[in-house]
Amino acid sequence: MSEKHLDKIISLCKRKGFVFPNSEIYGGLKASYDYGPLGVELKKSISDKWWKIMTNNHENIVGLDSSIMVHPDVWEASGHISNFNDPLVDNKDNKKRYRVDDLLSQQKTKVLELLCENMSINFEQDEIIEIICRELLEKENKHDGVLEKSGVIDPFSGNVGKWTAPSQFNLMFKTNSGPSEKTGKSIFLRPETAQGMYINYLLVQNSMRLKVPFGIAQVGKAFRNEIIARNFIFRTREFEQMEMQYFVHPENDQESMDFWKEQRMDYYINELGIKKENLKFHKHSEDSLAHYAKEAFDIEYNFPFGWGEIEGIHNRTDFDLKEHEKMSGKNMMYFDALKNEKYHPFIIETSTGLNRQFLMILCESYYEDNENNRVVLKLPFDLSPNKTVVCPLIKKDGLPEKAKEIFMKVNNRYKSIYDEQGSIGKRYYRQDEAGTPFGITIDHDTLNDNSVTIRERDSMKQHRVGIEKIFDFIDDNK
Ligand code: ATP
Repeated sequence: MSEKHLDKIISLCKRKGFVFPNSEIYGGLKASYDYGPLGVELKKSISDKWWKIMTNNHENIVGLDSSIMVHPDVWEASGHISNFNDPLVDNKDNKKRYRVDDLLSQQKTKVLELLCENMSINFEQDEIIEIICRELLEKENKHDGVLEKSGVIDPFSGNVGKWTAPSQFNLMFKTNSGPSEKTGKSIFLRPETAQGMYINYLLVQNSMRLKVPFGIAQVGKAFRNEIIARNFIFRTREFEQMEMQYFVHPENDQESMDFWKEQRMDYYINELGIKKENLKFHKHSEDSLAHYAKEAFDIEYNFPFGWGEIEGIHNRTDFDLKEHEKMSGKNMMYFDALKNEKYHPFIIETSTGLNRQFLMILCESYYEDNENNRVVLKLPFDLSPNKTVVCPLIKKDGLPEKAKEIFMKVNNRYKSIYDEQGSIGKRYYRQDEAGTPFGITIDHDTLNDNSVTIRERDSMKQHRVGIEKIFDFIDDNK
């Protein structure tokens, strides 16, 4: 699938009511999107499915809905105030601003080689861009002017940029709590949902009488002031995360990490139906690990613009709990009454973006059926916004009345849509593009023999089915 397909998916999303550009009447707000009628249904189905698998399928995982705004010390303790930064550079010639890692990823290999030579770094290493970025920030004076000297091109102008020294840019959105900017306290919109689970973990554990190992799951908004937000809903400044924090005995961290890696990959393949070849693990090298992590893996999907992270599985050790203990002065240890043992549990985190899963599912489902001159969204039944479209063959002879009667019945069990506009072929094609798996057509025979035609989205096969057997047919073929 190419970049061109992404443009087609973006256009389909707008046309069919999945995703709209935000504030369009005012010229739009960059990297901000609204979810339309079909989009909210799809997003909700993805989130419900994740929730069911993570909580209903594990008797020791419970839910939480913590606040977006928390005490500012939370971010001091978690390290987000000092570490949640991206390196930035400006081109003095045209005032364009870039994230250094992003800028370097767009350079030719020979530019990167020269950069490494000028910085005395061995080029033959994994994640070389991250190593260069860190080195640039840590030894700013030593590497003064090195980007320009190495011929780093500004992708906007196509010329070597007149680069400023890299500086750190904190990704958290800051705002004020209280009526006045002067007297109000500075607070931050959360950049991850995780911290809400850490600061509440003992309350959750006590209230539910949980024993380690146990997990807390949460779905909610997160905000990051991304320097470059792009690739449609892949990277936005406001997004939703689905996170699960698993609290384990420090001796069992590796076992738990292995378990969750397997579970999560299995989820994408067997629950969401993503092709194996479109998924892979990416292990973070020691150099690129986040400040809190002992080990980290990303699950990546092969998007039309290349491989991109959809989920992170991190061994966050006891870092967060110990830091919150230091900052708050409150004991954050778990007490195992049976063993009479007190300890800070290690945390294995699975963290995925709902919006990125949404985009992945659209990319995976998008299919151009050139033989039949149609576009089909081959969404799995349980994720399809509408499960059936109910159509009277024509708009007269009592067919609409009968069709509405059937629609009410079907819609009560499976979310459906009623359509009597245009030729039946056009109506089917409209719904193919929206991912509706079944078409139910009411014709003159229906009035005599109480049967309807059910048409399957992917195969386009049609079946004559008695009205009382509609649900059996759907359940057998979904
Ligand atoms: P990236 O490297 O792409 O910036 P990250 O490693 O910072 O991602 P995490 O902090 O591990 O991401 O967040 C967990 C998940 O949250 C990611 O796997 C992704 O699905 C989602 N996510 C993170 N940032 C964004 C964003 N700006 N827009 C949409 N989803 C995001």
